[in-house]
Amino acid sequence: MTPDSSRVGFPDSAAETGIFGDVTDIRPLLDKALAGERLTLDDAGVLLSSDDWTSMVKVGHELRNRRHDPAQATWTAFRVINYTNFCDVDCSFCSFKDEIRSSRGYTLTLEQIEAKTVEARDLGCDAIFFQGGVNPDLPLAYYTEAFQIIAHRHGMHVRALSPVELWRLAEKEGISLETLLEVLKQAGLGSVPGAGAEILTERMREVLSPKKLTAAQWCETMGACHRAGLPGSCNIVFGSTETVEDVAAHLGYLRDQQDRTGGFLSFVPWVFQPQTKNFPIRHVMSWEYLRMVAVARMFLDNIDNIEVSIMVMGRELAELGLRAGANDISSIVIEENVLASRGLKTMRAAERFLSEAGFQPRRRTLGYELL
Ligand code: SF4
Repeated sequence: MTPDSSRVGFPDSAAETGIFGDVTDIRPLLDKALAGERLTLDDAGVLLSSDDWTSMVKVGHELRNRRHDPAQATWTAFRVINYTNFCDVDCSFCSFKDEIRSSRGYTLTLEQIEAKTVEARDLGCDAIFFQGGVNPDLPLAYYTEAFQIIAHRHGMHVRALSPVELWRLAEKEGISLETLLEVLKQAGLGSVPGAGAEILTERMREVLSPKKLTAAQWCETMGACHRAGLPGSCNIVFGSTETVEDVAAHLGYLRDQQDRTGGFLSFVPWVFQPQTKNFPIRHVMSWEYLRMVAVARMFLDNIDNIEVSIMVMGRELAELGLRAGANDISSIVIEENVLASRGLKTMRAAERFLSEAGFQPRRRTLGYELL
């Protein structure tokens, strides 16, 4: 991406955010990670400030190989159904949403959802990722009927609803989060995405998504999901004006939540895409992304799987990510309307990609069971 000075608050260089340039010797921290000792937030800060990324990716890969078969890497096949793009949350980076009741937005009918489900099943997918804007006009029955169709009528796994969608739905229905989750689970909900975290510090939420949940509310919601038997993933989206401290704090929130409720099956690092001109965005260098993968593998010692998103990062970087700490490519994804996709679209392409990257491809479910 070429820097565009018309963008809001575009940093002149990555150095402004303190993300690299530190010359502290990181070997003691790498040895600590290799010895299985837990890294502190300060340790994460030092690693995230260092440009010795080649040392970090070696350790990330070593730790990945201790936890997973070094010869294998995994993939999965799911369809994203973006059921509505009406949303009243107004995240500064989002170009997907439309104003509530505007003439441009859409909400899929149950018939359309069923048709997309059948199409995905016939293509060999075993899961539907059901995600949309926060649309206050949709009643709980819309979700329960959709999940029943996907899960009970067509036997597909349903991963659905980010924390802000769940929180707002519970508020609208006047029920507790726990009750809502139980109703949705009965209807067929199988797991939840960790979407909407972006960067879990109040400073960054003010910049990116002031109307979304606070960091504490996000964690509270994910904890309620985990306790209800609804596992899922978590992520970071970076490449704005976050500082090293913001990133370390974000990783700390995730690790603490995982210690408490243990439902994060995987962690996925993503970078912001230039969807709008309303937020500060910077170019994330390839090595910086690989450093994030490696630091995640070292710091998040209680999360088994690190995914690289081919859809967002592209094939070359995903291939390197599998040598930096990641063990999964988070693909294939059929239909994605929120982000520009650079991803794999067929099962054959996923297997071929992993074979050419030097791994035995293993298909998994969204719940990380090997097929
Ligand atoms: S990112 Fe999600 S919650 Fe935020 S404005 Fe877009 S659709 Fe709404």
